Amino acid sequence: MKHSLSFLILIILMNACSTPSTTDTNTEFNKQFDDYKNRFVEQMWEIYPMWATEIGYHRYDSILEINNADYRNRILKFAKENLDSLQGFDSTKLSDLNKMDAEIIKNFLQKSQFNIEELKSWQWDPSGYNASGNLSYMLSENYEPLNNRIINIAKKLEQIPAYYNAAKENIQNPSPEHLQLAIEQNTGGFESLEATLKDSLAQSTLSSDEKAMVESQMKNAMAAVQDYISFLKNLKNENGRSFRLGSDLYGKKFNLEIESRYTYEQIYDSAMQRKKYLHTQMATLATQLWPKYFGNTTIPEDTLTLISKVIDTLSMNHVKPEDFQSTIEKQIPELEKFVTGHNLIYLDPSKPLKVRKEPAYMAGVAGASISAPGPYDKNGNTYYNVGSLAGWDAQRAESYLREYNNYTLQILNIHEAVPGHYTQLVYSNNSPSIIKSLLGNGAMIEGWAVYGELMMLENGYGNNEPEMWLMYYKWNLRTVCNTLLDISVHTRNMSHDEALHLLTKEAFQQNAEAEGKWRRVMLTNVQLTSYYTGFKEICDLREECKKIQGDKFNLKAFHEKFLSYGSAPVKLIRAQMLADLQQQK
Ligand code: ZN
Ligand code: ZN
Repeated sequence: MKHSLSFLILIILMNACSTPSTTDTNTEFNKQFDDYKNRFVEQMWEIYPMWATEIGYHRYDSILEINNADYRNRILKFAKENLDSLQGFDSTKLSDLNKMDAEIIKNFLQKSQFNIEELKSWQWDPSGYNASGNLSYMLSENYEPLNNRIINIAKKLEQIPAYYNAAKENIQNPSPEHLQLAIEQNTGGFESLEATLKDSLAQSTLSSDEKAMVESQMKNAMAAVQDYISFLKNLKNENGRSFRLGSDLYGKKFNLEIESRYTYEQIYDSAMQRKKYLHTQMATLATQLWPKYFGNTTIPEDTLTLISKVIDTLSMNHVKPEDFQSTIEKQIPELEKFVTGHNLIYLDPSKPLKVRKEPAYMAGVAGASISAPGPYDKNGNTYYNVGSLAGWDAQRAESYLREYNNYTLQILNIHEAVPGHYTQLVYSNNSPSIIKSLLGNGAMIEGWAVYGELMMLENGYGNNEPEMWLMYYKWNLRTVCNTLLDISVHTRNMSHDEALHLLTKEAFQQNAEAEGKWRRVMLTNVQLTSYYTGFKEICDLREECKKIQGDKFNLKAFHEKFLSYGSAPVKLIRAQMLADLQQQK
């Protein structure tokens, strides 16, 4: 409240003194916009304290978001006030970077309105209520002395009953799949939290009174979680909502989440074409490789069977479970050497990537991911988290290693590390805008990593071996089919059997992987389209730049310029890059 008042006065003052349009006043005007952005971010953390904690802003570590009607009204008020404030800024006087930031803030606010007023997953998705992840994060990340973190956790635990009471009031006709997920995740999350907290308490130097206090808060919190779980289990849910979003909500969410210049229907058509193209390329390569791996055996008539047989054979070429992490570690410098040697993009040597075993609280989603320092900890380490296969049964490990065979493991490293996510994040952290680091666009981030895979192969990574290209196409096909799957399931009523057919027969996936994807598409929406949409937009932009620049087009310069804007939506970067090119002409 206090904030918004002083804020309003400033806006009025700002408008009053910004009439003449000389460069000096524009500089001043942009400084004022920078101040506005900082205030916006401060207000945002007050409203989203749990997100603040996870991004490394620790002023509100003791506060849990209680999602009741008051809270939602606060968000709506925040959105409306800030949308009004943004209108008060004359965008023609803003610098290019600030213009983008203004667009990004606007989209974020509209998205929060949409989530509360139209999407309403706070009503139908009971798995949205689960504080265990946030609390586990506080226990495992060493940003403050353990005692402080435990005290803040205890303060949050005290609010757990109110947190789940709000949830119980909100839930209406939930989707049965999300209901089930909520039961599983709350059960699992809090059991593991209770165990970790017990260990941490033993390690801490808190007094015995304090320890007893924390233990009793944990006990009360557990009771509230149990109560929520039995509420969910006993819910009469005869009119449960479908997990399918439906075209109307899907279209709106796609526009706000992906921020593409294409509609989801256009992306669907484009992905269908890409699938066809990939199948043709793969058939040619598989035919070419057949004699090498199958000798004189007759070539299968059905091309999908032919491709699938060659892929299965190539997939046997994989590392041993115990060599998984060390192989990844060895590959990073090789990728860096290739990127630098081929003049693809400048790599900042002062921000090395550390490969580590995935921390316990991330485990479960085996595979690989990047953890980068947030805007509040720019000098922190960037980690490549690699899931360990220790303790896996032989069959599961074998199937996983075939998936990440010697070919696709390289593509995975390109995607996650160099020149994919890790390289992009280093550039993003160097871009001066906190808005883009906080409200980064997922389709741009994933699109860049997917684009990097193709770009490396185009430039000769893997020596143009047909095996490498075939496996790359299979990998790219996954991205393409994820998009088709997501759109088909949420807007076209695609059935489980149709989905499994698409993934196993047309995208050559194993049954277990396909079933996992079916589960993911039931529980999430839109996100699965981000990879292909971003990829397509970046490829299209590159073609546009080539057309305009002709002989002057330089791939390295294109990449560096593209990434210099930070994690902004591709359509905003495109507008800026094309405008700059027109000016240079
Ligand atoms: Zn094997
Ligand atoms: Zn990715």
